[in-house]
Amino acid sequence: MKQIIPGLWEIDEIGDAVHCYLWEWSEGLTLIDTGRRSDGPKILEALRRHRMALHNIRRIIITHVDADHTGGLALLQRVTAARVACHTTEKAVMEQPARRKPGAWYTWPLFPLAQLVPGLYQHPVTPHELLVDGQTLPEGFTVVHTPGHTPGHISLLHTERRLLIAGDALVNRRNRLSVNISAFTADPFNARRSLLKLAKKHGDDFDVIVFGHGMPVLHNGAKRVKGLASQIFSTDV
Ligand SMILES: [Zn+2]
Repeated sequence: MKQIIPGLWEIDEIGDAVHCYLWEWSEGLTLIDTGRRSDGPKILEALRRHRMALHNIRRIIITHVDADHTGGLALLQRVTAARVACHTTEKAVMEQPARRKPGAWYTWPLFPLAQLVPGLYQHPVTPHELLVDGQTLPEGFTVVHTPGHTPGHISLLHTERRLLIAGDALVNRRNRLSVNISAFTADPFNARRSLLKLAKKHGDDFDVIVFGHGMPVLHNGAKRVKGLASQIFSTDV
């Protein structure tokens, strides 16, 4: 497990393809995303190895429902008995993963088909808590609805710690910050609008950014987000 800033750990035991995080706060631990299905046991093992009691995992917050972020969810929820939280709009897909809104036309059959492949199958999970934009959480985060990659995608902002957990709203591959408009992004137009929202509404609120995919940004995060928004929208943000 790798500490990014005090209180925030990346569970790097699952490798580098996708990231999930552990947040330590006054009342316990919160897991943010759960990796692929095969990552569930690895996350449990990492927690045990670092002597983090499973009953201390109070909550699992999901940035969005996708096989690489919610694959381990059913197992981790069952073992920890943590409460599961996601955006209101994401609930239907968490309960029926085959209904994941596709991106490019050739991805349309993939989500229902993935449910037939044992390694990709996602167990339906019913969330205990539904989140909305602007909601403040006991962990200190504010929920920022950043739709695009999926309709109910959220990022988590901790203004006090100047931290943004971007999920898949942004990616930082090879230290190149970009909006996630991959073939799997359901609505690229909205994904860009979410970037503008992060830049305009929260452009003074964070320095550190961590991602579902890519290396963390440790300094000047908001400045880089504003720079990217200016570039895409050809206007000062
Ligand atoms: Zn992802």
